[in-house]
Amino acid sequence: MTGAHDTPVRDWPSIHGGEIHADKVWQYEMRSAIRDSVKLCELLELPASLGERADRSKAGFSVFVPQPFLRRIRVGDPNDPLLKQVLPDPAETTLTEGFSQDPVGDQTSKLPPGVIQKYPGRALLVVNGACAIHCRYCFRRHFPYKTVPHSPRNWQPVLNQLAQDTRITELILSGGDPLTMVDASFRELVDQIAQMPHIQRLRIHTRLPVVIPSRVTDELIAAIQVCPTTVVVVHINHPQEIDEAVGVALKKLVQAGALVLNQAVLLRGINDSVDLLADLSLRLVALRVMPYYLNQLDRVAGAAHFEVPVARGKAIIKQLADQLPGYAVPKYVQDLPDCDSKQRLA
Ligand code: SF4
Repeated sequence: MTGAHDTPVRDWPSIHGGEIHADKVWQYEMRSAIRDSVKLCELLELPASLGERADRSKAGFSVFVPQPFLRRIRVGDPNDPLLKQVLPDPAETTLTEGFSQDPVGDQTSKLPPGVIQKYPGRALLVVNGACAIHCRYCFRRHFPYKTVPHSPRNWQPVLNQLAQDTRITELILSGGDPLTMVDASFRELVDQIAQMPHIQRLRIHTRLPVVIPSRVTDELIAAIQVCPTTVVVVHINHPQEIDEAVGVALKKLVQAGALVLNQAVLLRGINDSVDLLADLSLRLVALRVMPYYLNQLDRVAGAAHFEVPVARGKAIIKQLADQLPGYAVPKYVQDLPDCDSKQRLA
């Protein structure tokens, strides 16, 4: 334990379930997300000057913080590890050599818009550009989402192509966040995928169950049970992101039969600590979520200030391996353009 949770977070007022159907609460949370740095700082009792400075530092990537995530940020602490993930920093406007708009080669794909195939047997479908939260270090912060098909009707040509390509055995739904789709659209998509016998595994990359745990609705649970094997890859960087509601949401996914994995990004000043990452791994294991990957930061323009040297990352992993059972030690990996798979760093 790091003591990171010693300062109580504010008990923010929340919406009343009686007024909104339980399956729709997450949509309300999306609509009412904080989209303004000044407002965000005001709510967290931070100086207005900090919010104004952040507002000038967005570098084309807006602020988006839903209230269930906001409630886990400590009031009055400008160095809170969750706040640092979402509040723009002046360093985002600095150009740094080696950091580019497309650090992993997404935009060099020759496949139809919205489909990325980097690995044999697996295709990744960028189903939309909407996210549950805007992470300042996001490797797709410059991705041209406007070129991506945005509705089930628009995906049809892509789905037709995937239906013909029997080499693809795993389909990865990514974004943005595929779970920003409403349940009916998500189910429609999953039903179509389930009709492709060569697709043996459906993988969903999402941060929604963590950012807005009420997203794990009964309809979503039913949808993820349509395909024979569903893998849900969530994204938690810091133990403070796991509150009781997140725990309940993750348990629901596990109990529904999904294989639930976590990937974290190694972030300077946020989680580059052995104690923190050990705490995160053990909390995940307690929820039966596998600590799968610790990603080296993708070198996206505007995120250089988050980078941790690889040597430091390797040292952290070594110390984690010394104190945790092997299954609780994430693979330390890096995604590089022109590589067939993630490169294992430790
Ligand atoms: S949720 Fe994922 S895709 Fe969306 S901003 Fe965060 S890191 Fe990027």
